[in-house]
Amino acid sequence: MRIDIITVLPELLRSPFEHSIMKRAQQKGLAEVHLVNLRDYATDKHKSVDDYAFGGGAGMVMKIEPIAACIDHLKSQREYDEVIYMSPDGELLDQPLANKMSALKNIIILCGHYKGVDERVREHYITREISIGNYVLSGGELAAAVVADSIIRLLPGVLNDETSALSDSFQDNLLAPPVYTRPAEYNGWKVPDVLLSGHEEKISQWRHEKAVERTQQRRPDLLK
Ligand code: SAH
Repeated sequence: MRIDIITVLPELLRSPFEHSIMKRAQQKGLAEVHLVNLRDYATDKHKSVDDYAFGGGAGMVMKIEPIAACIDHLKSQREYDEVIYMSPDGELLDQPLANKMSALKNIIILCGHYKGVDERVREHYITREISIGNYVLSGGELAAAVVADSIIRLLPGVLNDETSALSDSFQDNLLAPPVYTRPAEYNGWKVPDVLLSGHEEKISQWRHEKAVERTQQRRPDLLK
């Protein structure tokens, strides 16, 4: 899968993709992440990517020309399944949406800044708008990293233990059960006996029960 992230702050996005699972996914050739600097597509002499809002008011608006030139250029190289705009008024990111996007081949993610992008970009270039939560960030970069991470870890072969993503929270609409590691006893606090029993069937039954219990307590909405 290939993800092109259009941003005015590529430096802000470099680090998340250079560590751990996202780094490994790229090294294995399972994911390709390209950080595209929007300023490279600005045409005026100041390389400006934003301008005052028509109608007045505080806050700058990202201009259509550099974004259009950038997306057109990317599209001339390959076909894209989705052109995504990160936006607080978009569809809320959840596990089913991440699962769905992990089946795509090429996507573009556009990061906004300031007051956001000129509405005509959204009308004519964007195929999907995603929010990572009901709060406002200063830019789309951190949100884009969240979206990319949620997708990339699902690509087949990325996680060492293939079943690991399936037992995470929200798959099957259940939260994950509690997990423990050594030592079996710390400060008098013991790991549940069943996990030390080596009895696979009982362990998986216990995990399922705990997952249901936890979901009932914390997120009963998921069970409906
Ligand atoms: N004026 C806009 C907010 C702009 S915030 C509004 O009120 O809707 C600047 C940029 O940060 C946005 O263009 C978007 O790309 C990004 N952003 C902010 N909050 C976000 C969120 N919750 N999810 C995804 N992107 C977000």
